[in-house]
Amino acid sequence: MRKSIVAGNWKMNYGPLQAESFAGSLRDPLSAITGTDIVLFPPFISLYAAHRAVAGSSIQLGAQNLSDQTGGAFTGEVSAGMITELCSWVIIGHSERRQYYQETDQLVSRKTQVALDAGLTPIVCVGEHLEDREANLTERVITTQIRGSLDGLPPDQFGRVVVAYEPVWAIGTGRAASRQDADDVIAIIRALVGEMYGRPAAADLRVLYGGSVTAANIAEFAASPEIDGALIGGASLKPEFVDIARIIAEQG
Ligand code: PEP
Repeated sequence: MRKSIVAGNWKMNYGPLQAESFAGSLRDPLSAITGTDIVLFPPFISLYAAHRAVAGSSIQLGAQNLSDQTGGAFTGEVSAGMITELCSWVIIGHSERRQYYQETDQLVSRKTQVALDAGLTPIVCVGEHLEDREANLTERVITTQIRGSLDGLPPDQFGRVVVAYEPVWAIGTGRAASRQDADDVIAIIRALVGEMYGRPAAADLRVLYGGSVTAANIAEFAASPEIDGALIGGASLKPEFVDIARIIAEQG
């Protein structure tokens, strides 16, 4: 039985003051929801404020990115070790990092290793662009991303990896994938992970769906036995996030 995950990616929204107040407003309603991992991903500068707001509750925190270096003279970077002071999770290879900051599968792989070594739970994102889907290249793109990002990790650490399937055309567009599309791609992901790490690891792997999730459409995804929760962008900035978390927790 895989535990579901409700992950709220705030992206570049909410500085420290707003983060403390918004996380504070979520604290009681989210604390009342049990049986699922609820994780907020504020911007780096707001992590400490969010940490203060949720301290002592069941709400967990994660970073939206991390350095592939462990420390030293890397101006502007944030290491896994620093992140562990406040967080237990990290998002790696979000499509916006891949698209606007030229993150490659090789870099995503290095970051995932660094995160695992530090004891963090990485959520590794993959997803095809609209042109890929229209050209029937979804399977090829996902295969390249999964192999390039996840191959070669120590098998004894792999159990901590989480994958988010986020079709790029669905992120922030209001056009979510269908449950069938998500199920189909997640089946590909599990088959690949089975080849790389064995069938038990594939069966235990938690895979999230992300892309225009709302309180109105989450029930469809949460009902799928293949989908273990959601990575939520826009809707995680609103009280609606609590409704989404409740629906995911109720459906397992
Ligand atoms: C995301 O940021 O990972 C995301 C899925 O965004 P949205 O929910 O806004 O589509």
